[in-house]
Amino acid sequence: GSDIPESNCDVLIVGAGPAGLMSATWMARCGIKARIVDKRGTKIFSGQADGLQCRSLEIFDSFGFADRVWKESNHMIEVSCINPGPDGRIRRSDRVPDTIPGVSRFQQVVLHQGRIERFFLDHLKKYSDITVERGVLPESLDIDASKIEDNDAYPITVKLRHLTDEEAMPAQSKSSDIADGLFRSNLAADDTDDLIRKSTGNEGNAEIVHAKYMIGCDGAHSWTRRQLGYEMQGEATDYIWGVLDIIPITNFPDIRMRCAIHSANSGSVMVIPRENGLVRLYIQLSEIRPDASGRADRSKITPDVIMKAAQKTMSPYKITYEYCDWWTAYQIGQRVGTNFDAHQRVFLAGDAVHTHSPKAGQGMNVSMQDAFNLGWKIGLVVNGVSPRSILKTYQSERRRIAQDLIAFDHRFSRLFSGRPAKDVTDEAGVSMEEFKAAFVKGNQFASGLSVDYGASMLVAKPGDSAEQGDGTDVGVAGAATNGSSARKVVGKQELATNIPLGMRFQSFQVVNQAGARPYPFQYWLMSDGRFRIVLFAGNMADEKQKERVRKFCAELEKPGSVIRRYTPPDRAIDSVIEILTLHSAKRVDVELLVDFPTILHPFDEKRGWDYDKVFVDDESYHEGFGDAYKNYGVDKERGCVVVVRPDQYVGYIGELEDVEDLEAYFAGVMIKDNAGLARTKVNRNVRETP
Ligand code: FAD
Repeated sequence: GSDIPESNCDVLIVGAGPAGLMSATWMARCGIKARIVDKRGTKIFSGQADGLQCRSLEIFDSFGFADRVWKESNHMIEVSCINPGPDGRIRRSDRVPDTIPGVSRFQQVVLHQGRIERFFLDHLKKYSDITVERGVLPESLDIDASKIEDNDAYPITVKLRHLTDEEAMPAQSKSSDIADGLFRSNLAADDTDDLIRKSTGNEGNAEIVHAKYMIGCDGAHSWTRRQLGYEMQGEATDYIWGVLDIIPITNFPDIRMRCAIHSANSGSVMVIPRENGLVRLYIQLSEIRPDASGRADRSKITPDVIMKAAQKTMSPYKITYEYCDWWTAYQIGQRVGTNFDAHQRVFLAGDAVHTHSPKAGQGMNVSMQDAFNLGWKIGLVVNGVSPRSILKTYQSERRRIAQDLIAFDHRFSRLFSGRPAKDVTDEAGVSMEEFKAAFVKGNQFASGLSVDYGASMLVAKPGDSAEQGDGTDVGVAGAATNGSSARKVVGKQELATNIPLGMRFQSFQVVNQAGARPYPFQYWLMSDGRFRIVLFAGNMADEKQKERVRKFCAELEKPGSVIRRYTPPDRAIDSVIEILTLHSAKRVDVELLVDFPTILHPFDEKRGWDYDKVFVDDESYHEGFGDAYKNYGVDKERGCVVVVRPDQYVGYIGELEDVEDLEAYFAGVMIKDNAGLARTKVNRNVRETP
């Protein structure tokens, strides 16, 4: 009826799990008017995902809350491989480092999903008015195809229903006394406010929302995906797994290690030591088989059944518990969505477009990373900074990652679920050598650091633009629709051999020129929606090199330069593109205010010079030498210029003289003289001290 309230919002996010909260976080940081709704009445308080990759921690750090995760989580240091010996009895056969040493300044950790959601919610509160509207779900979705290319239009219409309290809080499963979700005595103190659903003021009623963009983060059974009519490709496996979060009472020696246990004939168990003395067991339930329809009868599965299976696998060791925090059972489906978006207006992220087994600890990570890839792109488009064409890179960059993930999971699950081979002639069995090799290789993939995006308008590297599949050459066409004369650029990888184009900018220690404090360089690549030019200024004590740097900066100072062209005159000079400098002279041989052109440390009438933009590759007093130039593979005398995307992935590399290439790169990804920018709230580079 006409009395249903109607309103506009720029971005509507459906689902407040890890993917939805990551999306909302970008909207908060880009100053976008966004709403996020979830059909559940409360956040989750225990259970579900718990593994966090190094890359996820780097991402949390770029928003400023990795320290909370680091402190509360259990750190995964070593993996123990437990296999049957010649006598059939299980024993430790190998130890492998969990995180490959040196790949990141973080290691893999475990902390349950409810805590991660807590940190996101707190972050949203700090940076925006966005709050999760719980007990709210969409009922219908319409996309007006005639308006999809109109930047000012709201082509998406969604009818939302606000559930009553009874509808929003479905009764817990009655199959055991342990709540599989909400267990009050285990609540963290800062979660208690969320125990009771906040009123939306509209319970039992409907409303109409008109949105510019929508992100479906509504999990494996995604409503949004079904509305779009998109399929998931792949299949369910026959393996049924139980999960128990317990405080174990046991004589098993490696209970505080991550263990992969293969028994001779009684299945497999994965042990994950957790925070607060908890241990998670993933247990293959070989006695419970799917029926003819391919589904297992879940009512037969109880914590007792799962525990008995674990005891069998772990025999002759004994394991029991008094306290169980959470449990569940699931059947693995390995599937990838056919499409990740509709008209680059409605997007799908997380479990809504890929499902797989949880043992490799990927689901929450890859889901958040989908949204981490997408959120800033939508933010920049809504703010009028970037053309809509950059949105095509979401599917081209993330669908391949999802496919890689499923392929990895497929191999890993087979190796993990299989019975160990008795000897080399036992072809039905799994070779434990093969398992270990796959595990070590898998660790690289599982760190999240091997992600390597293909050539596109956002990644100036050789090769065909990744959008070839749908017949659009985004690298060039994107720039063309944007009214500029951009050409395809190829970055010069040889100038920075260890800063791979398409991969995340890795971190080495550098020292602040003004204050002598050491930092991991990545610390300054904050997630606030800005692109960054990292100027490797080389040897600033050398007059010739200093002249090159001066010339480069003079180009950036000119009216119409990449910096001036995309930054509205009433905005801070670093509000769209920030320049960070790393030089290689001795810190004490150069002076910030004397030797470095002002655009490298801009002046603000209220705050004076910016001291947090120029760094040196030099010794620190207390934390050694980062040797960053050598580690990045950059020439110490000549340096180079690197462009880092708002998500820390490397977009372009060139000489200081290649200003035209730099301009061409930005012409492909930004809109000149944009008007929308007036609305963005990007603040001056102020990073809170940890
Ligand atoms: P979800 O977390 O599923 O969130 C979807 C949200 O959307 C939910 O809050 C839901 O209420 C809401 N929603 C759904 N439909 C609607 C609708 N129609 N309207 C409004 N809201 C809706 N991953 C790991 O990385 N490591 C692990 O160790 C791990 N272990 C796991 C163990 C178990 C037992 C399970 C079940 C999962 C595990 N996962 C693990 C997977 C991980 O939980 C998921 O991959 C991750 O939560 C996906 O995030 P998401 O945001 O895409 O979806």
